[in-house]
Amino acid sequence: MADIKETIDELVAANRILANEGVVDAFGHISARHPDRPDRFFLSCSRSPELVSADDIMEFTLEGEPVDAKGRRPYLERFIHGAVFESRPDVRSVVHCHSPTVIPFGVTGEKLRPIMHNGGCLGHDVPVWDVDDKFGSTNLLVINMEMGRDLAKTIGNNTVALMRGHGAAIAAPSVRRAVFIAIYLELNAELQMKAMQIKGAKPIKFLTDGEIEVTSKMILGNLGGSSDRAWEYWCRRAGV
Ligand SMILES: [Zn+2]
Repeated sequence: MADIKETIDELVAANRILANEGVVDAFGHISARHPDRPDRFFLSCSRSPELVSADDIMEFTLEGEPVDAKGRRPYLERFIHGAVFESRPDVRSVVHCHSPTVIPFGVTGEKLRPIMHNGGCLGHDVPVWDVDDKFGSTNLLVINMEMGRDLAKTIGNNTVALMRGHGAAIAAPSVRRAVFIAIYLELNAELQMKAMQIKGAKPIKFLTDGEIEVTSKMILGNLGGSSDRAWEYWCRRAGV
């Protein structure tokens, strides 16, 4: 039970942090896999992340079915989380956000690539999932498992996939790493855009494959405790 309370408290803090850092606004969400039951996950009810408290956290099956809704309304896009947890046993936290600077990279064919050291956590490839490819004209939301599974397939073994005209989905080994990746995803996109504006005809020197290997291992493996240091900083800023 202690583990469950800890997981829920961390998830509440993660909601507040992502809101405070501007990664999510009224929309977007973060989930955590159940610590004892890999076939379940925790996610807030349909509320803006800045307002989320422990009472809002609901438990779901990987199919996105609430275990005991207690009258609370779930997020429409909870299937993103269920499908990623289902396809990736290594993943313990999923973020879905509409991080604004990321959107242009999902609609232009311009690849989002790690441009600064902490952006190395984005990995070697940031694929783009286009809902229109398989589902035609929709409201762009992921509202069932079929759509969730199609998105999870695009994520594959990567850390991030962009969702064309919508946002991004992040698959991470912990809640803290998920927050780290979500924050640096937005910052990396912003910096890449700035570099593209000033580079003229010159090529940008992105992180090399070797650098991505080393930095992502450091960040995702928490070598040197840098992600705990970042977590403490973001908690303080968010007042949690
Ligand atoms: Zn969305």
